[in-house]
Amino acid sequence: MAAHVITNVKIFDGTGRQPFPGEVLVDANRIASVSTGNRPQPASATVIDGAGGTLMPGLVEAHAHLSFPDLFSHDITRLPVEEHMLITVRNARTMLDCGYTSAFSAASAKTRLDVVLKREIEAGRAPGPRLLANGPEITVTGGLGDENKLHLPYDDSPTFCVVADGPDEIRRVARTFAREGVDLLKLNISGDGGTSSAGADVTVMTDAEVDAAMEIARPRNLRVAGHCRSAGSVMMALRHGVEVIYHANYADEEALDALEAARDRVFVAPAIGHTWSLYTFAEAHRIPPARARAAQDEVAFSVDTYSRMRKRGIRVLPGGDYGFPTSPHGTYARDLQLFVDILGFSPMETLVAATKHGGEIMGKPGELGIVRPGALADLLLVDGDPLADITILQDRARLRMIMQDGALHIQA
Ligand SMILES: [Zn+2]
Repeated sequence: MAAHVITNVKIFDGTGRQPFPGEVLVDANRIASVSTGNRPQPASATVIDGAGGTLMPGLVEAHAHLSFPDLFSHDITRLPVEEHMLITVRNARTMLDCGYTSAFSAASAKTRLDVVLKREIEAGRAPGPRLLANGPEITVTGGLGDENKLHLPYDDSPTFCVVADGPDEIRRVARTFAREGVDLLKLNISGDGGTSSAGADVTVMTDAEVDAAMEIARPRNLRVAGHCRSAGSVMMALRHGVEVIYHANYADEEALDALEAARDRVFVAPAIGHTWSLYTFAEAHRIPPARARAAQDEVAFSVDTYSRMRKRGIRVLPGGDYGFPTSPHGTYARDLQLFVDILGFSPMETLVAATKHGGEIMGKPGELGIVRPGALADLLLVDGDPLADITILQDRARLRMIMQDGALHIQA
């Protein structure tokens, strides 16, 4: 593999340190050196002139749905597996094109879509982010994703979920996903506003059910994420060792205390992008007014909760549930702007969350999401300063170079 030296850049290293002028030498798939100013470099290295741009770690998407098709015409419930796989492969390329070099999957719409995609990416046969593969969301009767009606034929594997009630069924489903090669499990521990019969403030799983999933996950080294909007679901997730808490909108004082106590081992990802899009683009997408209002109320209610998490040192990561008509693939970096504009994070806090903490959620702390000698060479060269204007990361034309594992994906 080739060596590259990227010169004439300001380096944002992911740690929170202010960007500094320098150059970075990449040897094979790792960063060999980071120097301030110019140093003699090996003659064999290909020189990339950064033209004064910002060199930073590749972005990490903490709530990815690469198999969600984001078009009404591609109804997720009706897609044959052949089309579905191709759409998933296409979305993976789009995500990498947007500067996201890693993704933590928050569920796959069919059991093997993420798993197969991950193998293709790792073998270098399909471009896409480094991926931790998930299966469909595991839900209970009446939970998020179970939209069955008694008068219609029963579907035990609706849309992006599998319905499992009680510890035995949960164990069977979790074992099946493990057998098929997932890295992660996703449990819908709370209900959801607007899309499930149980609301966001309702905890729908039981302790025995979450415990059963963990019993399967632990010995197989599967990591577990939870859809946890209610305070009770956050507490339940923490009680059983669920590591990634999605949403946490209604975390109360007790739940915030528990999250803080576990802050070295847990991650929170609000996934605000999709909820925000439901009311912001309601008219264009004919979202029912009641649904749009509920989404707006939910975000308004949660803003204060997330800023309290930030102040308590809980890792809160961008990653916005992209893959719906109002929040299509390719708009992932909007989440960074929402962290600044709505959740009150500084651009620096947001970018550290999307890079360094992203590397941590991917299970590679100090190795991914950071620019330092020895780290994996997942790098972005941005035309401009994202700390001065975080919206430039939404403009693909300003991503002048995307490097993943030392290989150039895009070089403008
Ligand atoms: Zn999601």
